[in-house]
Amino acid sequence: PPDRFRLDAATPEGVLQDIFGYPRFRGLQAEVVAQVCRGGDALVLMPTGGGKSLCYQVPAIVRQRRGLGVTVVVSPLIALMQDQVGALEEAGVHAAFLNSTLSTEQAQQVERELLSGRLTLLYAAPERINTPRFLAQLQSLYERGQLALFAIDEAHCVSQWGHDFRSEYLSLSLLHERYPEVPRIALTATADALTREDMIERLALQQAEVYVDSFDRPNIHYTIVEKGASPREQLLRFIRDEHEGAAGVVYCQSRRKVDDTAQWLQSQGIPALPYHAGMDATQRKQHQDRFLREEGLVMVATVAFGMGIDKPDVRFVAHLDLPKNIEGYYQETGRAGRDGAPAQAWMAYGLADVVNQRRMIDESPAGDTFKQAQRRKLDALLALAEATDCRRQRLLGYFGEQLAQPCGHCDNCDQPPDTWDGTEAARMLLSCIYRFEQHSGQRFGAGHLIDVLRGKDSDKVRQYQHDSLSTWGIGRSLSEAQWRAVLRQLIALGHVRSEGEYNTLVLEPSARSVLKGEVVLRLRHASEPTRGRRRGPQA
Ligand code: ADP
Ligand code: ZN
Repeated sequence: PPDRFRLDAATPEGVLQDIFGYPRFRGLQAEVVAQVCRGGDALVLMPTGGGKSLCYQVPAIVRQRRGLGVTVVVSPLIALMQDQVGALEEAGVHAAFLNSTLSTEQAQQVERELLSGRLTLLYAAPERINTPRFLAQLQSLYERGQLALFAIDEAHCVSQWGHDFRSEYLSLSLLHERYPEVPRIALTATADALTREDMIERLALQQAEVYVDSFDRPNIHYTIVEKGASPREQLLRFIRDEHEGAAGVVYCQSRRKVDDTAQWLQSQGIPALPYHAGMDATQRKQHQDRFLREEGLVMVATVAFGMGIDKPDVRFVAHLDLPKNIEGYYQETGRAGRDGAPAQAWMAYGLADVVNQRRMIDESPAGDTFKQAQRRKLDALLALAEATDCRRQRLLGYFGEQLAQPCGHCDNCDQPPDTWDGTEAARMLLSCIYRFEQHSGQRFGAGHLIDVLRGKDSDKVRQYQHDSLSTWGIGRSLSEAQWRAVLRQLIALGHVRSEGEYNTLVLEPSARSVLKGEVVLRLRHASEPTRGRRRGPQA
């Protein structure tokens, strides 16, 4: 009946039901929507798939119906803008976007609609906002009281600590300076404490109510394995054993490795496609479209792939290289299982990953404070990778969320890893590095260190007379793989650093307490390359 419709028309619940066809709000949506409808600012942290769009779409409709005008949504994602505008128009909500895909005439048409006050939502790319032309249009709306709300999507892009920094986001604080009475809602699926503070600062959101939804993705199972002799064979086994015929994403660090891995998987009968920024745009688009449309394709990609990709049935996300930090890991693995059905996050990691990531930070042209922050973030990721307890507790803990019990749904919960008292081995290794410096004033890399510990008679050993060191051959009882595992963990724990072009090893100040026997180190065993996965059919 028309009467009831009119009554409901400007309430959040009415809009949710009438326009979107959902019976109720989910999680924190109701609170966020209420805050924004009443004109307050909000910072919303919700995991991917959590329902962020409704947090600004519903208030946009409510406020337009109350005669407050248009909501401007800032988004860097062109595909998402187009999808959302299409869906809104279909639901009878007048929406449009302004981005680089429009011709001049099309853009002018949208601008006319905007100025007419008829639009409910306008999606705009961040680089638009800062143009004099667009600012003049906003000013005109503002003066007529027709600027209802600003929504800033992917708000973490404003933070230089994050992984998707976009300089155009920095100018978004302008919106608050020019239009202080217009409420703002900023949204992101990723934010540790540092990024969160950065967003508040840079977007001037000090007055905003902060809403943090649970970041848990209960349907994702987490596994982190140690790299053996052939990580891609490990990957292949993982795919064949558990995800034959399923859609998945495999992340690699370099373009070359993306190409090689995709080709190799194909040669092994896995339908795989490469995706990275070095490919030409047409082919990239074609691979992306095929991945979205066809079933059971594996996308091998750099981090260039994924933001804004909404494929619900991705069954696994695998990492063949270590991401930069936990936020990156969370965001990338979060692309698995958006449909809520069981999915897996699988990562293989090894000593070389740690060394590479550290070196990339050291060699980056960034300033010291920035590098220091990146190192701390990497350390947190290494601690997750080396963890012997619940991965999910660690992961959520990083985002400031406590999980009372171990999750029962990660590799370490499935089977607690074997640990051993590695204190003595660690002392041997550390003192060997110490002796190198004492003896020849020089530093050496992992290979030579392990040769000396195991008493191997190599050219280099003879050249430097390292067979005369007190640490020569004291570590024969451990295999090379075991020593690599010890070293990796000592690096992850911050007792040793590897630096320079040759990845030479240096003791960190904290190594002292280990050398002096003041701490006990429980280390993970090196996994035997032959040991199969436990969750196979026999298990
Ligand atoms: P995000 O932007 O946080 O990744 P979306 O806004 O794309 O998430 O929402 C994810 C999915 O959940 C969408 O399909 C959306 O329609 C659905 N959804 C969101 N809120 C609700 C709700 N209250 N009831 C039912 N479905 C919802
Ligand atoms: Zn767990």
